[in-house]
Amino acid sequence: MQAMVVNRWGEKSVLATRPDPQPGPGEAVMKVRAAGVGLTLLNMRTGSFGGVTPRIMGHELGGDIVATGSGVTHIAVGDRCAVYFYLTCGHCRWCRGGRETLCERFGGYVGVHRDGGFADYVCLPAANFLPIPAGLDYEAAAIAADAVNTNWHCMRERARLNPHDTVLLIGAGGGVGIHGVQVARLFGARVIAADVSEEKLALARQWGAADTINVRAVADVAAEARRLTDGRGVDAAVDYVGHGHTFQAAIDSLAVGGRAVIVGVGTGPASVDPRSLIQTERVITGSRHSTRTELIETMEIMARGLVRPVVGMRAHFTEVESVFDAIRAETLLGRGALEYA
Ligand SMILES: [Zn+2]
Repeated sequence: MQAMVVNRWGEKSVLATRPDPQPGPGEAVMKVRAAGVGLTLLNMRTGSFGGVTPRIMGHELGGDIVATGSGVTHIAVGDRCAVYFYLTCGHCRWCRGGRETLCERFGGYVGVHRDGGFADYVCLPAANFLPIPAGLDYEAAAIAADAVNTNWHCMRERARLNPHDTVLLIGAGGGVGIHGVQVARLFGARVIAADVSEEKLALARQWGAADTINVRAVADVAAEARRLTDGRGVDAAVDYVGHGHTFQAAIDSLAVGGRAVIVGVGTGPASVDPRSLIQTERVITGSRHSTRTELIETMEIMARGLVRPVVGMRAHFTEVESVFDAIRAETLLGRGALEYA
């Protein structure tokens, strides 16, 4: 098969020929039909998520099962499937308690700790393949499996949005953020979108943001969020960028009782006055991806058309580096998508 291989972390992926994968016991092989591309992949390619090289990346995937190993009963050849991103044990207290992304025996990430789907075929534990519902295409199912389900978990379980809430989304025009705008609207919340360009903010407005903040045009994002909420602050703030200064803006934007949630993986510290947390019962927390059940729910929501995939660029999977270039240049609006025809 053809595959895009990262020979060493920090280097670009290159086209190579690899043997077609064969499924071992409990595994299955999928012919990849579509993939999503986002900033997480660029962070992973630096080596900061661990894993060994050479490696085939790619975890937002949709396709058809073409082979199953012994003992696999819940999926069969011909099934249309999406891929679950995390390699979990399935047996620990967190896996059994409905919070599997906190797995005690976490095996790592598809596309980092085992080969992913920027290739004709991908071989994974069968438990990582989930059927795509009727009415959802491969590309939408691929994007469901990180760019959307991350928001489903975040908004419902961590930001705990209600229809009377105002939520600030920092990085709202990015691949995950633009779907966050839609999911936050599903919970009825008013959305304030913050991002670095007018193009990204226009996209956020198009998908339901009521107000926008251009972070390169205002001196103080938190002050602007307060101005847009009559001085009260926001009930929730979600940071898709994840640098210390962006998460600080999220914390400083909160109303009494507000929730600041970090989703993006950046660098640098943020600070908080512990005493203020007593006086305000503000919550400062993180949101870690999504469970399998939440991915199934996300695909059902998308099959009903309640959240739509926002794709700003398409390329053949052998041209994935051109999508990375657009992400690095901050010109990609929404998600990148790869084709396999
Ligand atoms: Zn576990």
